[in-house]
Amino acid sequence: MSDFKDATKCIQSGYVAGNGELRTLPIYQGTTYRYDSSEHLAKLFDLEAPGHMYTRISNPTVAFVEEKIADLEGGIGAMCTSSGQAASMVSVFNICSAGQNFVCLNNLYGGTTNLFSVTLKRMGIEVRYVSEQMSDEEISSFFDENTRLVFAETLANPSLAVLDFERFSSIAHSHGVPLIVDNTFATPILCRPFEHGADIIIHSTTKYMDGHATVVGGVVIDSGKFDWAKDGKYPELSEPDPSYHGISYTEQFKEAAYIIKARVQLMRDLGITPQPTAAFYLNLGLETLALRIRQHSHNALRVAQFLKDHEKVSWVNYPGLADDEYHERSQRYFTDGLSSGVVAFGVAGGREAAGRFMDSLKLTGIVVHVADARTSVLHPASTTHRQLSDEQLKGAGISADFVRLSIGIEDADDILADISQALDQA
Ligand SMILES: *Cc1c(COP(=O)(O)O)cnc(C)c1O
Repeated sequence: MSDFKDATKCIQSGYVAGNGELRTLPIYQGTTYRYDSSEHLAKLFDLEAPGHMYTRISNPTVAFVEEKIADLEGGIGAMCTSSGQAASMVSVFNICSAGQNFVCLNNLYGGTTNLFSVTLKRMGIEVRYVSEQMSDEEISSFFDENTRLVFAETLANPSLAVLDFERFSSIAHSHGVPLIVDNTFATPILCRPFEHGADIIIHSTTKYMDGHATVVGGVVIDSGKFDWAKDGKYPELSEPDPSYHGISYTEQFKEAAYIIKARVQLMRDLGITPQPTAAFYLNLGLETLALRIRQHSHNALRVAQFLKDHEKVSWVNYPGLADDEYHERSQRYFTDGLSSGVVAFGVAGGREAAGRFMDSLKLTGIVVHVADARTSVLHPASTTHRQLSDEQLKGAGISADFVRLSIGIEDADDILADISQALDQA
C-alpha cells in the first residue's frame, strides 16, 4: 500500500511509466503472451513465477487497475471481474461449497438477493438472512459448523442503511468466519471497510468507480488479514488443490491465498474476465473518483435537505441528514461525514404519485443505473427489486412509494429546479 492520499492514489497508483514510455495506462489488447523458454512457461503454470499466461486469467492493463483499486482499499491484492454480480459470486464461491451455508444481512441489492437465494441455492449453497434488528443471540443461532462467511453491504442499495461494522465483524470473527463487504455505494473514498474489520471487499465497479455509466465490471479485494489455515476450517485454501497438482494456497502464497485461489482456480474455470479495454475505461473513471464522490455527496445533501422540508414528500433516507437513522454511523465510518449521491424518499400519494413525479422529470433520467455522473431516478419496487416477494421487499427496506434518486455532478441548482418542478406535478 502506498502512503499517498486518496486523490493521489486515484491518479498515480497502478501503472507507472518507465523512461520514454507512454505516460497513461496502455491497453494491452491481446489474448496471449510469448516466452523465451518452455521452462519459463512451465513455471508460470506451476505458479512459481509471476507473469501472464492467458488473458482469461490475467492481463497487464487489468492488473494495473487491480493494483490501483487494492491500493485505494488498503488491500494486498485485487481481481477484476466482468461484472459486480461475478465479483459477489466469486467472493462467496471461493470459500463456500455445496452443503455449506453463509449468513447475509437482508438489506441487499436485488440482483445479489437473486444470486444468493436462487442461483447459489441451485448449487447447493444456502444463504441465511439476518436483520440488524435481531439480537446477537438470535443472529448467532443462524451459524453452524458449515457456516463459511458473513456478507453485508456498507451502504445498502437502495435502503441506504449503513453497516454496523463493529458489530457484524465481531459476530463473524467470533464464529471464526470472514466478513465480506459490498462497498459499491460508499467506494474507498467514503469508507475503507478493512479498517473496520472487513476481510474481503467486493464492488460493482459499474457504479461510482467507473462513474460514467460506460462499462459493466466488478472487483474482489483481499485484506490479507484473515487466517485461512487456522483450525483447518478452509481446506480448499490450506489443503492440496488437485487442479494444481497438490499446491496448498496458504502454504505457497501465505496471506494472499484467497485472492490467488480466486484467480488461478475460479477465474480460470468460470472465465468471468474483464476485457482490457473495459479496464482502461474503469481506470479513467477511477482517476476522478475522489473528486466526483465529494461533488455527488455535496449535491445529494442539498437535495435531501430540500426534500425533507417539501410537503409532497413523506419521508427521506439520507445518512448525511442530521436526523437520519444512520447519521451517527455515517459520521463514524464515512470520510468527512459525506454520504454518496444516492437519496431515497417517499412521494406523498404512494405508487401513483411516484409515477407522476418520475414522468415529470426533465433533466433527471429514468434509468436502471445508479451512481454515475448524470442525475437519475428509479422506482425499485417495480424494477430492480421486482422479483422480490413482499416480505423480501420489506427486508430490503423498500416500500411502494420508495423512489431512489442518484444525484449526479451537474450544478445542484439545476438538479433542485428539476426535482422541484416534478414534485409540483406529483
Ligand atoms: C449494481 C450492483 C451490484 C451488481 O453489479 P453489476 O456490475 O451490475 O453486475 C452489486 N452490488 C451492488 C450494491 C450494486 O449496486
